[in-house]
Amino acid sequence: MQEFPSEGLVGREANVDLPGKDGCCWTATAPETSYPALSGKQRVEVAIVGGGIAGLSAALPLAEAGCSVAVLEALRVGRQVTGRSTAKVTTQHALIYDHLIETLGRETAALYAEANKAGMARILDWIDAHGIDCDLERKSAYVYIDPERDRLEDLNRETEAALSFGLPADVVDRAPLPFATGGAVRFTEQAQFNPARYLIGLAGAVAAAGGTLYESSRIVALEQSGRWTLSTGSAEVEADHVLLTTNLPIGGPDDYSQRTQPRYHVAMAFRIDPAKAPDGMFIAAEDPVHSFRQARDQEGDLLLVLGPRFSTGQEGDVASHFRELEQWTRIRFEVGAAAWRWANEDYDTASRIPFVGEPFAEAKGLHIATGFNGWGITNGTAAGLLLADEVLARPNPWSALYTPDRKSPDDFHQSGKTQSKVASIDEIPRGSGGVIEKGEEKLAVWRDDDGAMHAFSATCPHKGCTVTWNNAVSTWDCPCHGSIFAAGGSVLHGPAVKPLEPRRLPS
Ligand SMILES: Cc1cc2nc3c(=O)[nH]c(=O)nc-3n(C[C@H](O)[C@H](O)[C@H](O)COP(=O)(O)OP(=O)(O)OC[C@H]3O[C@@H](n4cnc5c(N)ncnc54)[C@H](O)[C@@H]3O)c2cc1C
Repeated sequence: MQEFPSEGLVGREANVDLPGKDGCCWTATAPETSYPALSGKQRVEVAIVGGGIAGLSAALPLAEAGCSVAVLEALRVGRQVTGRSTAKVTTQHALIYDHLIETLGRETAALYAEANKAGMARILDWIDAHGIDCDLERKSAYVYIDPERDRLEDLNRETEAALSFGLPADVVDRAPLPFATGGAVRFTEQAQFNPARYLIGLAGAVAAAGGTLYESSRIVALEQSGRWTLSTGSAEVEADHVLLTTNLPIGGPDDYSQRTQPRYHVAMAFRIDPAKAPDGMFIAAEDPVHSFRQARDQEGDLLLVLGPRFSTGQEGDVASHFRELEQWTRIRFEVGAAAWRWANEDYDTASRIPFVGEPFAEAKGLHIATGFNGWGITNGTAAGLLLADEVLARPNPWSALYTPDRKSPDDFHQSGKTQSKVASIDEIPRGSGGVIEKGEEKLAVWRDDDGAMHAFSATCPHKGCTVTWNNAVSTWDCPCHGSIFAAGGSVLHGPAVKPLEPRRLPS
């Protein structure tokens, strides 16, 4: 059996020929962590499941307030969705403020601005207070329109809305880019950083404040009988409060996987002469939405480019998205070699506002944070602060904004079907996977690079959908709720907590 990755959303080198190294420039340049795995039976006041930005942003204020806190991370802290993001630290979330005023009213839009302003300010404070070395740089953020479209009115309305909430917005005739754009909304005084280094620094601050962190500790079951008991299968922790900061909740009486939609992106980083790198952080206002910024690894400057989103597991040829992204980039920028490529996903909500809080009257003490709509750096920090306030019974100004009681329109969540059906295992080349039917059952079959075959149930253990083979990063992706499994079946991204079950190969 081959080695499987210990961190999420990076598969093994796929058999398809793609430019760049399989990996993310942030996680590759972040220090290693070595927190122990949970063992025995522990007792704490607050158990935080998930060491991403939402979980760690709750852990620090709780530990500082003197609570006993355990952060339980399935893989390694800081290296999953947050650690692979574009890491723009900004209150500019594409065109949103005018949209929120139109759909939910001025009060809600103002709260959204306040929460994200506070999230951003807290990040900058923590970096300063804890001396976190994470390549923080102040930059302007731009959302630009296509030169062919006449949307100046939209930009003016967005700018007016943002200014009315005290955000530093103005309209410029075009974005400062080496290709033609229409006008852009610019937010000055924003920031960018290396998100993996930031979270690893934040985890260190949690430990220094008296919190305990565990890695390689996937929670596979949670039960309430008075207090909460969380289990990894071989160890347990008992807690008064549980924060499910697992990107999408892994449990609870209601089903947030039906109120959200998993969205997948491919990302690449290219070598670039710093004099030719765009100065700022950019995103297109219209489809196909590309997002980009300058970045850095040990070897020098990079242009990080993110491709348009699609629903996880609902595309059969993810590799083609990398090829299109490279083409798109080379037409517009003078870049050198492709250095890195990776993939990432996050969850959208119908309203574009996350769900954060303690939603279940019948499950007191269970708190969730999900649905960051691709803008979880500031929203995720605000979410962590809100969950910490809930636990400490302190009022928080954003609880009405993020209330997890909101329903979603019935047609918002769209599950999909596997894209990987093959008639026979002979059709599966080396380094690839396919789904075949064996009697009543569907099998996910992976032929590794040496030609050895490995078979698993193709049924996602979360809700029973059939997984799709991802030919770009060699993972099995669930087309319903976004769980991602390594080629060898282990969980890389929830909401699944159990691996794909091994099966006998069909004869
Ligand atoms: C491609 C991309 C680019 C983005 N760029 C930006 C950006 O520029 N700016 C911005 O504001 N936002 C951006 N976002 C959004 C932002 O990155 C996310 O919203 C945010 O990082 C989510 O944080 P999280 O804490 O929910 O998830 P994570 O960082 O993934 O943390 C959740 C943690 O929970 C752990 N976990 C899961 N299940 C279990 C379990 N059963 N037991 C224990 N641990 C478990 C996981 O391993 C993981 O470490 C981007 C998103 C994507 C996909």
